Formats: sequence, C-alpha cells, structure tokens
Amino acid sequence: MTIALIAHDSKKELMVQFCIAYCGILSRHHICATGTTGKMVSEATGLDIEKFLSGSQGGDQQIVSRISCNEVDLLLFFRDPISAKASEPNEYNLLRLCDVHNIPVATNIATAEALIHAMERGDLDWRDIVKPSR
Ligand code: PGA
Repeated sequence: MTIALIAHDSKKELMVQFCIAYCGILSRHHICATGTTGKMVSEATGLDIEKFLSGSQGGDQQIVSRISCNEVDLLLFFRDPISAKASEPNEYNLLRLCDVHNIPVATNIATAEALIHAMERGDLDWRDIVKPSR
C-alpha cells in the first residue's frame, strides 16, 4: 500500500512520534510525504520516504495529484484545527478528493491509529473492489 503523510507545523512532532511507534508496520509499505514532514519522519525513523516539495511550495498538491490518479491508499493528514491557514482551500480539495476516490483519511492521531490497525488486519482491502485498476 502507499501511505501519504502530511503534518502541519504544530503537529509534526506528533507525526514523528506516531511513525516511531508504528515504524514496523510503516516499513512494509511505500511512504510518501510533503517535504518537511517526510524529512523529519525519515530522520527520526530511518524509513525510506518519497519526499515531495514542502507543503508551502506545492507538496500537498503533488499528493493531491497522486490521489487523483488512485496512487494513494491511505492518507494521514495531521492538521492544525486551531490556526486558520492560507492553504485551507487546498485542504478542502485534498479531503474532497479522498472522498471522490474512497481513500481512507485520518486528520488526527486517534483515527490514524484506528486506520493503521485496520490496514494491518486487512480491513481496508474492500477498496480493491470499488477502486479502478491503475
Ligand atoms: P511540510 O508541508 O511537510 O513540507 O511542512 C506540510 C504543510 O503543508 O504544512
């Protein structure tokens, strides 16, 4: 599976801790991430991560295009729900496309843990039924 990671600045350390905790599972999948998030996670975990541009430079839009091409199976997007950001319209589009393509998406660590465990159990395989072939 391909797992995409994005974390806003105030959530990056949480993303790092999450990836350390689930490194064993994540290491069995292809991981891609926006630039800074990917750099921090790879440095902390040693995971091999495909890094896109930084979010502010369009990295989140690169993930959007992967989602549009059905090349992402799970999105972990630890967003800052408190501070309004200039990128909010982009975030809306990112989440909208996850719904268009039936991509499981977690916007907080509680849901991320539930999805990682579900993925390990094979509970996300139902997507193969409705997902167009690549
Ligand atoms: P970053 O991008 O990982 O490059 O910081 C995420 C974001 O949009 O904040």
